[in-house]
Amino acid sequence: MYDLIIIGAGTAGISAYKEAVKHTQNILVINDGPWDTTCARVGCMPSKVLISSANRLYDSQHIDQVGITTESSFDTSHIMSHVRALRDRFTTATIKDVQSWPKQHRLSGKATFINANTVKVNGKHFQAKSFILAVGSKPVINQNWKDLLKDHLITSDEIFELKKLPTSLAVIGSGVIAIELAQAFSRLGVQTTLFARSQRVGILTSPNLQLMAQQQLAKELNIYFKTLPNSVNLVDQQVNLSFEYKREEKTQSFDYLLNATGRSSLLDSLKLDNIDPLFSDLNKLPVHPQTKQLANLPIFIAGDAHTDTPLQHEAAHEGRKLVDNCLNYPKVKKVKSLTSLGVVFCSPEMAIAGQSYKQLQDKNIDFITGFSSYEKQGRALILGKNIGGVEVYIDRKTRKLLGAELFVNSAEHLAHLLCWMINQNITLDEILDQAYYHPTLEEGLRSAFKHVRRQLLSV
Ligand SMILES: Cc1cc2nc3c(=O)[nH]c(=O)nc-3n(C[C@H](O)[C@H](O)[C@H](O)COP(=O)(O)OP(=O)(O)OC[C@H]3O[C@@H](n4cnc5c(N)ncnc54)[C@H](O)[C@@H]3O)c2cc1C
Repeated sequence: MYDLIIIGAGTAGISAYKEAVKHTQNILVINDGPWDTTCARVGCMPSKVLISSANRLYDSQHIDQVGITTESSFDTSHIMSHVRALRDRFTTATIKDVQSWPKQHRLSGKATFINANTVKVNGKHFQAKSFILAVGSKPVINQNWKDLLKDHLITSDEIFELKKLPTSLAVIGSGVIAIELAQAFSRLGVQTTLFARSQRVGILTSPNLQLMAQQQLAKELNIYFKTLPNSVNLVDQQVNLSFEYKREEKTQSFDYLLNATGRSSLLDSLKLDNIDPLFSDLNKLPVHPQTKQLANLPIFIAGDAHTDTPLQHEAAHEGRKLVDNCLNYPKVKKVKSLTSLGVVFCSPEMAIAGQSYKQLQDKNIDFITGFSSYEKQGRALILGKNIGGVEVYIDRKTRKLLGAELFVNSAEHLAHLLCWMINQNITLDEILDQAYYHPTLEEGLRSAFKHVRRQLLSV
């Protein structure tokens, strides 16, 4: 019997293995499919390569913002092979790492549970004292549409395999993956149209910043809010979409339809109902939100398989931390300990650090919002990136920073600073006492904090 079996060798599973192997050699990792992680193969990394190329092209086409005129021509025919070449560097590095593990620690195949201590893989049974389930998730697809559109309906699992850029692309969804990919393809010259079920883009919950983001992204992207296609057809290798917009029936044709409406857990592949019939409904799975323990069993769930934070760093953190819960069972600790941090790599970037505007509202917390526009911010003007703004949320009584939302260039960096500040538990006065180099984008954060201070002084 193994001390620990880890099912799934994605970000969470690999991170769990690396921690576990420091404490025991009596360990097995079981993985179905490639051993190169969703993040490196079809997730974070190829999407960011594509976005980087798209943004560089966009910047060079808008170079007049920094006083230069040019008449350049661009060839984007190598973009997709560039994305794959760089992506393959990342996946190769991951696979090389996995191959350095002792052979007896890894097994390829799909695991299904027989009972709480036993899984079946390739017809053989394997037993363990504890399990980490790190099976991740897969894109949701509309099966009826898939049957009609065949390989013209794609998800983020297939899009990076396209040999060349399509001429046109319909994107269904307006969440993180939809927005990032839609803007990148649009910036690369693909005629991109986005269909959004709601009147929302990305992650921002602040009404002010959400509106700003919608207006800004709609300048570049053709977005139909509160509109979904009511019929789809494949005619002459073109996707025909019919939809109603502003009471008018419309039909548009595209090369491909990108279905980016969310992801569903792969826990259903594990036959958890063989442990307990009550586990057949994944929506009601009794998983402790902090310890990630399944019911009262020595079974823990890491990463995207069961989470409200489907993010790479959260998956890695949970995988690592859960090893302690497995090896010291029944002593079980909380593993959800990170200050939350989310980034959307659209342009300008969106980010949330700490608690969002909506979370604070929902909890009835008495907080003050400090806002700073980046439209006239010095450094943003210099960079020709003077768009958007930031909001910081300060607790009225303790004057502590609770959270922030950003829609601004370089939000990925500013959000890290804010996240780390929240983690330090420091007050508004201590934050304003820090050094702010001039001229920088960080000065815009200071303006937002000063905005809070003015409101506090005026009461
Ligand atoms: C397009 C896209 C862009 C993204 N961008 C970002 C980003 O910029 N930043 C960020 O933080 N996050 C991003 N993410 C999310 C990030 O990729 C995930 O949070 C992370 O990969 C989750 O890791 P995981 O270990 O939970 O799952 P995975 O890496 O998916 O690993 C799960 C593994 O389990 C295996 N498995 C499944 N079922 C079984 C079974 N029954 N038996 C054995 N093995 C099984 C799977 O085959 C897979 O190998 C992005 C995701 C996508 C799709």
